[in-house]
Amino acid sequence: MESTIKIKKIKEWAISSTEKPIIISGPCSAETEKQVMQTAKQLKANGIEIFRAGIWKPRTRPNSFEGVGTPGLEWLKQVKAETGMLISTEVANVKHVYESIKAGIDMIWIGARTTANPFAIQEIADAVRGIKIPVLIKNPVNPDVELWIGAIERFYNAGITNIGAIHRGFSGFEKSIYRNIPQWQIPIELKTRIPQIPLICDPSHIAGERKLLQEISQKAMDLNFDGLMIESHTEPEKAWSDAKQQITPKALKKLLDDLIIRQEVPPGISLETLDDLRFRIDLCDDEMIKILEKRMKLVHSIGLYKKENNMTILQPGRWDKILKRNINKGLQKNLKTDFVTKIFKIIHQESINEQTKIMNYKIKAKV
Ligand code: PEP
Ligand code: MN
Repeated sequence: MESTIKIKKIKEWAISSTEKPIIISGPCSAETEKQVMQTAKQLKANGIEIFRAGIWKPRTRPNSFEGVGTPGLEWLKQVKAETGMLISTEVANVKHVYESIKAGIDMIWIGARTTANPFAIQEIADAVRGIKIPVLIKNPVNPDVELWIGAIERFYNAGITNIGAIHRGFSGFEKSIYRNIPQWQIPIELKTRIPQIPLICDPSHIAGERKLLQEISQKAMDLNFDGLMIESHTEPEKAWSDAKQQITPKALKKLLDDLIIRQEVPPGISLETLDDLRFRIDLCDDEMIKILEKRMKLVHSIGLYKKENNMTILQPGRWDKILKRNINKGLQKNLKTDFVTKIFKIIHQESINEQTKIMNYKIKAKV
């Protein structure tokens, strides 16, 4: 079901003068006044307008640095006063909300561990009722788009219309090159369900290490994300949290300069060629639907035949042959084995479902 949420673009609120992408940067955690101020000044000098710093840090395991707490808000206030940057931090409970509002925070975000907890989300949503600042909601740690949308709805129902979503990847048990697996189909699904929502990618928490940041940021831009939240630190390797994934403000500038920003429809581009190609794609799709219909009718006839003759639905030898035959045919037409295999597995599964229906009908008819 499509969400009925109507959301203002934070872009309109926050940085109407700044072109896409919206960039939010700053340290994982505020550590000391000096580290916060130096990082902010270097970021500002490199054109960054929105500063982030974790004041309260939700850590997976105890005995890690859990943030400097309320005193760190004074340093954020100083960043705002001295650099003119907008300041943002993460809130995980009602106390954090009140302290942040009191300190003049311009934007808050909800961490992934909090989004996964509807009770916590509801309490925070009730606490921010009536405030005007944007609320960015990170995806939950688990790959559950409904839970993510549920959190967005709770804020929306509390009257918050300046809402954005942050994609920071999802925990997985399997070993992966990523700290949190991106599962791009999930933010894409979110954007399909709530098209007006500004979508920010957080490559830092997806990557877990510096060297993957460029590639993930580029991918987010190519998927038409509205912005990036990237952790930065004057001395990344000495950071008190997430040291492996932070970069210097200078490295951030290079990353951003190297990004290729593609537009949905760049100015001056005629859609005629694209429209023509899309028209031809639609014709191909029409053909595919017709052929699938024809194939399913044949599957149905085979099902009836198997039923009549008491044959099993699954005939592994036959399925093997179909797959091999089509993989070979596909290779001759430059279609990858993996692609052809996936398509035929889906088609085969649907054939089995259809024939199972026919067999079950027979059982029911007998009763
Ligand atoms: C963070 O932004 O520093 C943070 C704790 O992120 P996440 O909630 O994505 O783990
Ligand atoms: Mn972090």
